[in-house]
Amino acid sequence: MSHTSHNQNSALGTAVITGASTGIGAVYADRLARRGYDLILIARNRQRLNVLAERITTDTGRNVEVIAADLGNTAELRAVEQVLRNDVSISLLVNNAGVGATAPLIDSDADKMDAMIALNITSLTRLTKAVAPGLIARRRGGIINISSIVAVAPELLNGVYGGSKAYVLAFTQSLYHELADKGIKVQAVLPGAIATEFWDIAGLPVSNLPSKMVMSAEHLVDAALAGYDQGELVTLPSLPDAADWAAADNARKALAPNLSHALPAKRFGLAA
Ligand code: NAP
Repeated sequence: MSHTSHNQNSALGTAVITGASTGIGAVYADRLARRGYDLILIARNRQRLNVLAERITTDTGRNVEVIAADLGNTAELRAVEQVLRNDVSISLLVNNAGVGATAPLIDSDADKMDAMIALNITSLTRLTKAVAPGLIARRRGGIINISSIVAVAPELLNGVYGGSKAYVLAFTQSLYHELADKGIKVQAVLPGAIATEFWDIAGLPVSNLPSKMVMSAEHLVDAALAGYDQGELVTLPSLPDAADWAAADNARKALAPNLSHALPAKRFGLAA
């Protein structure tokens, strides 16, 4: 961990961004510093984090702290949780670190799938649990969770990846239910294809996708933050009409009165 600057503390507080060394997380770091947040940037690659932190401090004058940690490693994750729990300046958590895969499950390595779950699900859950009580106590702040369109289109890529991002969406919907009346903003962001190293790591370089469906990380983050400002719980940056998401979500909610009954539905033809 290292402090790269000692400017006056931000009135907006500190934004924690995981997976901040490159891609979407690095753009969040830039944009949130420009908005006036101090930053804690987390990823494994310390050198990349330091280069970014220095540039952001030069550009914006904000305080930027760097934590080099593997959030898929239990001990390192615990250490990060401890730091975040004790930092009363934290006002925003951006759970962005994540990995994907494009191969079908049967062609995938079980340990790699397990590692994906550890990063995409376990670390996101534990960091939220570490930060949320402080936000509630201070009655301010927000949690932004980076999901994916595969949360609602799990047929597109690897199913463990899709399932992990469906978890992020459902977890965020539940968090919203739990935290909205406590003064905490909650948002799930569902990006489509974004031009980052994600695709190289996932096994399909982004150049293989039609360019008309690939967005830049800058456009994605600017749209996601606009959605956050508008108080959106779920932001789909490519979707032209937000009413389409509302209709899908309302169809889900309309199931509620019939999800749990004493007897199976008549359509199964079972004797009462
Ligand atoms: P990226 O360019 O590959 O960046 C991923 C970031 O996560 C990097 O900063 C990486 O840094 C960090 N990271 C990876 N493994 C980590 C670990 N074990 N511990 C700590 N940090 C780790 O990918 P991206 O496209 O920006 O993806 C960011 C998020 O957006 C992910 O959750 C991804 O699922 C989601 N998303 C991406 C797309 C897309 O098309 N790109 C679409 C939908 C959703 P280090 O290597 O330095 O650790």
